[in-house]
Amino acid sequence: MAGALTVRRAVVTGGAGFVGSHLCDRLREEGAQVVCVDNLLTGSADNVRGLSGDPGFSLEVRDVSEPFDVPGPVDLVLHLASPASPHDYTRHPIETLRAGAHGTANALDLAQRKGARFLLASTSEVYGDPLVHPQTESYWGNVNPVGPRSQYDEAKRFAEALTTAYRTARGVDTVIVRLFNTYGPRMRPTDGRAVPTFITQALAGLPLTVAGDGTQTRSVCYVEDTVSGILAAATARHPGPVNLGNPVELSILGLAHRIRDLCGSASPIVFVERPVDDPGLRRPDIALARAVLGWEPAVDFDKGLAMTIDWFSRLTAAAG
Ligand code: NAD
Ligand code: UDP
Repeated sequence: MAGALTVRRAVVTGGAGFVGSHLCDRLREEGAQVVCVDNLLTGSADNVRGLSGDPGFSLEVRDVSEPFDVPGPVDLVLHLASPASPHDYTRHPIETLRAGAHGTANALDLAQRKGARFLLASTSEVYGDPLVHPQTESYWGNVNPVGPRSQYDEAKRFAEALTTAYRTARGVDTVIVRLFNTYGPRMRPTDGRAVPTFITQALAGLPLTVAGDGTQTRSVCYVEDTVSGILAAATARHPGPVNLGNPVELSILGLAHRIRDLCGSASPIVFVERPVDDPGLRRPDIALARAVLGWEPAVDFDKGLAMTIDWFSRLTAAAG
């Protein structure tokens, strides 16, 4: 693989999830051996089915919040294990905090023992409901520490602090990436996030459930672009934190309309209660990623959405 680090063998925690499984695929395509460690809490072995039987890939079903080891040499540890959708982390608050705290410590310990580079998949949620727009890495955020999103936001903020401490106190070679909303094939239709929910509703002719008046914004990035950014950061020298996201910003109502149009659906739009502490604005400033990683998204929204809708259509057809 290109970059300052040559990756011969990588460990991907959370590798059976949405983003993690695409990352495993890409690492294998680029010639790295991959050990995927996942307890299948919100992921599925189906996501890495395409790699089963590949001698360069293994799936270890294990909870990274308990100490774990991976025999043999490892050059890179990519730590993605954590529930990620509001629906999932609301159902699993303790598991989410444990994945951010114990899981991150265990993954960092593994990297330290192996002399491997470590990447933390953090999130734009560290910015909370932002008072600075667009969000730059120098912004410290506006997070409610006891609100309904706190288990996720504070777990990731703690994970960032722990990663920083292992870098400064123990000399582990680390990088923090802050992922913004990512979408694409292998999202679960029922994970509650806006893109899979709207696509599933539009394909079924059901009303699209827009929260509040839909003026809140998000900036959504196609998963292949996110994976390219993760690998660029993993193999570079920069410690981050670095934002990875698509700076094209859309209102949620606008997103619902675009999805409905691209699905060719006549579904109505209905307005439902807005979740407490739902961030009002989100757009990444990606100047740092452009400068230090030479990375920026390449897939435009309509194309990425069309590929995602196609995948969901085939999933629905296969389910009968
Ligand atoms: P996902 O739920 O599809 O994947 C998470 C994976 O982690 C799942 O396979 C799950 O089973 C696994 N996991 C959870 N707890 C675990 C544990 N204790 N031990 C082992 N495995 C465990 O979510 P995703 O969207 O693919 O997100 C992946 C990572 O990227 C997460 O860390 C998330 O915080 C981060 N992220 C994602 C987005 C996004 O828009 N998808 C945005 C920001 C950050
Ligand atoms: N959202 C919505 N309808 C849904 C699901 C989500 O209007 O059925 C809204 C949600 O309130 C938020 C935005 O879409 O304002 C993005 O939500 P998502 O869960 O996808 O991501 P996150 O809140 O983590 O950015």
